[in-house]
Amino acid sequence: MLSDKELIEVLKKRLEQAQKNQELVEEQRTELQLVNGKLAESEALKSHFISNITNEIVNPFASILGLSKNIIASKDSDIAKIKSMAELIHSEAFELDFQLKNIFTAARIEAGESSPEYIKTDINLLITSIISAYKYKAEQKQLKINFSFELGKEFETAHYFRTDPEKLKLILSNLLSNGIKYSNAANKIEVKAWVENRTLKVMVKDYGIGIDKKNLELIFDRFKRVDSSINSLNPGHGLGLSVTKALIDLMNGDIEIASKRHIGSIFTISIPESDSTENDGYALDGNEFIFGDSDDEVF
Ligand code: ADP
Repeated sequence: MLSDKELIEVLKKRLEQAQKNQELVEEQRTELQLVNGKLAESEALKSHFISNITNEIVNPFASILGLSKNIIASKDSDIAKIKSMAELIHSEAFELDFQLKNIFTAARIEAGESSPEYIKTDINLLITSIISAYKYKAEQKQLKINFSFELGKEFETAHYFRTDPEKLKLILSNLLSNGIKYSNAANKIEVKAWVENRTLKVMVKDYGIGIDKKNLELIFDRFKRVDSSINSLNPGHGLGLSVTKALIDLMNGDIEIASKRHIGSIFTISIPESDSTENDGYALDGNEFIFGDSDDEVF
């Protein structure tokens, strides 16, 4: 039989325990609300992405179909008209190809199937070919793209750099495409590449709309677009920079941004040269491959 004092003690302890449990439940409820909020945000971003991407795939296809039908129906004498329609088809297909590459790469990264494939790459040629692929887009906005390339001392004779050309191409295409998209018309974009301590550095500088300081951290988040005024005018779905960052991480590299609203942005990537000796061929610009000396030795 408990005395009154002991009974009060037991009740007091039980009350304390009940209060603690209550606090724990409250804590868990707050955590759950937070997770729910995040899930809802990610769901909203995803569904926005899906409706956005549908437009970006369906619309270019519709215009490619329409334009090519017009070309088929054109008279031979309409050569100027045919050429301008072909240019539009190329531009639509080019954008589509770029967007799909980002989507497939994002899917491959998520599935953990995206390990780098290193090969000696002619960096100068690779960047020149990307810039020339974007020439038409740049010209549409009367933008000039200046490119300069400096070899470090160690690259004076052999100007090949061992890296993954396909990944590098997609990284630089994203930076250049954004540079063009977020630039004001009739301006310039500067691309500078150099090699420093066996690390490739590429800087893409634009004089465009710039990014607010508070948004600098957010732009690498998937599906995040940070400027609603210009975004309604520009295609995109906030995937490019998240893919860019993930590819750079896969190659143990780094990306830095310096940006000021209405002044412009500078994106600088650093990618260390790979020590892998698995593939001894050469990549000219990521599309063409020629075989290196070690293959000759086999014969
Ligand atoms: P997208 O361009 O398809 O929207 P990205 O992931 O490439 O997606 O970029 C995310 C966001 O970062 C863009 O929507 C834009 O708001 C901002 N951004 C990226 N690059 C630039 C740039 N060079 N200048 C200004 N804003 C940029």
